[in-house]
Amino acid sequence: MTTRSKRILVLSDIHGNLPALQSVLQDAGEVDAVWCLGDLVGYGPFPNECIDLIRQQKDLRCVMGNHDAGMLGRISLGMFNHDAQVSLKWMKTVITESNWDYLRKIPETDQVDKVTLVHGSPRNPIWEYILDPGIARDNFSSFATPLAMVGHTHLPIAYIYFEDLDETEWTLGRHGKPLKLEHRAILNPGSVGQPRDHDPRAAYAIFYPRRMSWEFHRVEYDIERVQAAIIQNGLPARHASRLTEGW
Ligand code: ZN
Repeated sequence: MTTRSKRILVLSDIHGNLPALQSVLQDAGEVDAVWCLGDLVGYGPFPNECIDLIRQQKDLRCVMGNHDAGMLGRISLGMFNHDAQVSLKWMKTVITESNWDYLRKIPETDQVDKVTLVHGSPRNPIWEYILDPGIARDNFSSFATPLAMVGHTHLPIAYIYFEDLDETEWTLGRHGKPLKLEHRAILNPGSVGQPRDHDPRAAYAIFYPRRMSWEFHRVEYDIERVQAAIIQNGLPARHASRLTEGW
């Protein structure tokens, strides 16, 4: 008899997109834990439904994103572009007290075993975008664990650090191509609810902590359903149209 290897679902930037979150949870199948890297709200029309569903997940860890912090009033709305502000103001009017309370208690960073969890970057958990290997390299001194997992850019990507050279290489997330984690790394599963790599499918990752490997995944979801709900709730049309192209 073989024992099943421990599987952890890593997801980020759900942004109130319930159909995408449902597809990801179904596609991922049975997992031992769920790690969520922030931005449950913002842009999408189903903030409460997404938070409710996330809160039901087994062994959940969740860190705070900039949109979560914006809705809670911890960051000035002036820091967001106009359309994002419209969405955040709307969320404030619909969010349930229980979900507001839940978001309030989410930490900015978390650490599980060998992994640091954060939304933006280890040195600036809420705001910094890790968009290139140079920014990634400068972040390796800001966390002590072998791995960090981040979201925020909505791009599935792995930054691998070569300590002896003080250099970082990046590799774009390709569906179904497992990555063996033999060096320190900063890993981004991509965005569930608003992918920006011109692939409209929802993105997530599966992490195998025992064999130290990571898999990028993509899954289709009902884009039209979320687009209709964006329009119906009077949210910015751009947030609906961009989902078709995945940007
Ligand atoms: Zn985001």
